[in-house]
Order: sequence, then structure tokens, then C-alpha cells
Amino acid sequence: MGPAIESPEMLEAALRAGADAVRINFSHGDSAQHVRYLRLVREVAAKIGRPTAVLADLMGPKIRVDKQAYTLAPGATVTLTRGKGRPEKLLIGLTNTGWFKNAKPGQRVLLDDGKLELEFRGGRDGLAKAKVVRGGLLKPSKSLNVPGVDLALPMPTTKDRQDLQVIKEAGFDWIAASFISSADDVRKLRRYCDGIGLDLPIISKIENAAAVERLREIVEISDGVMVARGDLGVEVELERIPTLQRNVIHAARELGKVTIVATQMLETMMENALPTRAEVTDVSTAALARVDSLMLSGETAAGKYPVETIAMMDKIIRMAEKNLEEDIISVPHVETMALMCESALYLSVISGAKALITVSTLGSTPRILATYRGNIPIVAACTNTRILNRATLYYSNYPILVNPVRETEPVFHTIEKQLKDQGLVKKGDIMVFVFGYPVHGKHRTNTIRRWVVDK
Ligand code: PEP
Repeated sequence: MGPAIESPEMLEAALRAGADAVRINFSHGDSAQHVRYLRLVREVAAKIGRPTAVLADLMGPKIRVDKQAYTLAPGATVTLTRGKGRPEKLLIGLTNTGWFKNAKPGQRVLLDDGKLELEFRGGRDGLAKAKVVRGGLLKPSKSLNVPGVDLALPMPTTKDRQDLQVIKEAGFDWIAASFISSADDVRKLRRYCDGIGLDLPIISKIENAAAVERLREIVEISDGVMVARGDLGVEVELERIPTLQRNVIHAARELGKVTIVATQMLETMMENALPTRAEVTDVSTAALARVDSLMLSGETAAGKYPVETIAMMDKIIRMAEKNLEEDIISVPHVETMALMCESALYLSVISGAKALITVSTLGSTPRILATYRGNIPIVAACTNTRILNRATLYYSNYPILVNPVRETEPVFHTIEKQLKDQGLVKKGDIMVFVFGYPVHGKHRTNTIRRWVVDK
């Protein structure tokens, strides 16, 4: 989400072009803007009747330069300080300097996603010296990365804590957490959320070397993971990204967690109406690896062709999905209901069903069904909007809203009619239902039903 699609008309065009979820990045803008964006998404999504997940992406322990520009000549010596700097004196102001004590002389310091580079020389008492290795214009508020160094910031940071309060009050669907370095970081974040009464699933962004080393423990404790290739490409060597992406996808798949691949997916469409062949291949490769979601960033937030980019991504994904082989992944879920889900999926595939349908109040069934990666639409008939919106992020999920139900039988007829009206099924098609019988109340998934579309 960003200026390029922030008008109701552009946002509507973006959703119609195929966007299922919107990320609001708390690294940019202020609370008023984040809440305004959220409300806008809700309004437009309601207007066109399209469930849409909204992710709140926390800034996390990230250091930024102050709001001034600096001209850095290669070979020059600069001084780093906390707070406001003095560009004319090459005194660079930073949001945090606690990391000085953890960095050794010779340490690489990267600015603006690595476009500029400094060599740390050492320092203390909030002042440190560094030499400019790769110079240029350092624009206001740009990022600063110190690969491999503990930034000595609390989790969640003070800014994240303030943002989490806004997230709770405004009502988002997912949290994405930047710069997660260990399972303990996720635990601390979740504990903090519990403490303020915020209950949202957490996507851990994998974007530094520590997270790569502790990938498994992070995936285990998170609800999902994002391959955040922007910062990852600054923190580790670029040539490692494809292998790391594959490792994250495999770990998440094995543990049944949500996966998102992000950043520079169709980057040239920031300026051009068409992507490169390499970008098309990148998007297709991620779709063929059956990640749950692919994420655009600058392309839709600030690019010249935001709607065209979404439409292009949608086309590439659909084409890749036509070429998927029917395979169902075995996931070792502990819940008994997972066996019902897996069986329902096999029945759907073997009987050539057009849709696998679940009636969900708590959201567990659509989430578990998605983890097997079956090549069939999963229609999650949700009785509340919280679950409805959240489910749009899951693999192959098409959530629809149904009224809270009293009797089991009429629900199937209502869903059948809704799917026929949407053109997803027609007379004679087979559908498979997997649900908790009877559908009112809180019965766990216990029934599978084969259904032939009537009339
Ligand atoms: C990334 O670094 O790739 C990412 C998704 O995070 P952000 O857009 O917040 O930098």
C-alpha cells in the first residue's frame, strides 16, 4: 500500500486486478496514515464484495538515518551519532547507536539497502567514526544495516509497542514482524501482544543472517514466514538468496506454515509497462513452489504501473498453476481433524471435484487444508469477517461469508447457490464438504460429504 494506489478508484482497480491482501508498512508514514489506509481497504473491499487481508508490517529493530540528506565522498571520515546530525560537518544522525559497543573496527555498515557503504572504525559514548567506502548522496531517513551485529534493541521496540496498540484498536488481520532473529524474538512479541489483548497470527520476516541460522526454530513458533529479500540481500551475499528462499519454503511447507515471497518480484514495472523475462520467471518459480502468497512492494506503493503490475503477477501465477502437477504434501499435523482434511483433499482430487468446501468458525480447517497444497480451490465458508479476511492469505483459499447457521442442511444449499452465482461450479459438478457436524456450535471437523451440484 502506498501513494500510487491510495485513492479509492486505484485501490478498487488493484483489488479487481487480483490483489487478495494488502500490506501496510509501519516503517513509513504515521499512525493516522496507517489507520486511514486500513479503513480505505475495508471500504473498497466491502464495496466490491472481496474479502481482503490487511497485514500490519512492524518496523522491528531497524536503524535509520535522520531526516536530512548527506553527501558522502569515498575516503572521507564521518562521525555517527544518535539523534540529529550536522550534514555540513559529516556528523550523521541515527535513530539508535547502542550497537557501537558490539561492532568491531573494520565492520561493514551499509546505508540505503547497501547502495552506500562505510567501514566502522570504532567509538563509544554515542559517537563513532567510520570511513566512506562506497559514497554518494545519502537521502533522508534511509536504512542502516550492520550485518551480523546485535543491534541491542528490545523486542518489540518502543516504536513497535506504540504501533501494536494502533494495530489492536484499528483491527488488522495479520502481523508481519521485521528482523526476527530467533524463536525467542517471536515469543517476546507474542507475549507483548497477549499482554495488550491483541490476538493476531504472526509472520516472521526472514531477513538477516541470524534468522537464516535459526530458521527451523523460527518457523516452528511462527504462524508464517516471509522471505524478505530486500533486507536479506543486504545482510547476506546476494547469491545466497535463491537457496535461502528454497530453504525457507521447504521448512515452512514441512511444518505447515504460511509462506510469502517478497521484494523486487516485478521491480522494473516501477518504471516500465512490462517486466523482464527474468522477473516473470522469478514470480513463476515461486508460484510453482506453491508458496501461499507473493508480495509486491515499491511496484504498487510508488510505481508508475501499480494495477498493471498486479494484473501481470496474477497472469503469471495463473499460468504457473495450470502447469502444477497433482501432488498432495504430507504434513505431520498433530490435530486429529487434520486427518479429516487430508482425506477430504484426496477424495476431492480423486473424484475430480471442482471445489473443496469447509464451513469454518475458528479458521483452523481452511488453514490446515491449505498446507497440503492440493491443486483445487478451497472454499472457506466463514461465519465471521475476522477469519474471512485472514484466510485470503492461505494457499488456494477462496473465502466466502455465510450467515451464522442454526441448521446443517440449508447451509450446503446456500453455499452451492453462492458458488454457482460466482461461476465456480455448475450443474453436475462434484464438490466435497469437510466440516464439523452439526454445523452450529463449536464442533470440530468430523464429517466429509460428497455433493453433486443440482439444477
Ligand atoms: C524486505 O526487506 O524485503 C521487506 C519485505 O521488508 P521491507 O519492505 O519492510 O523493507
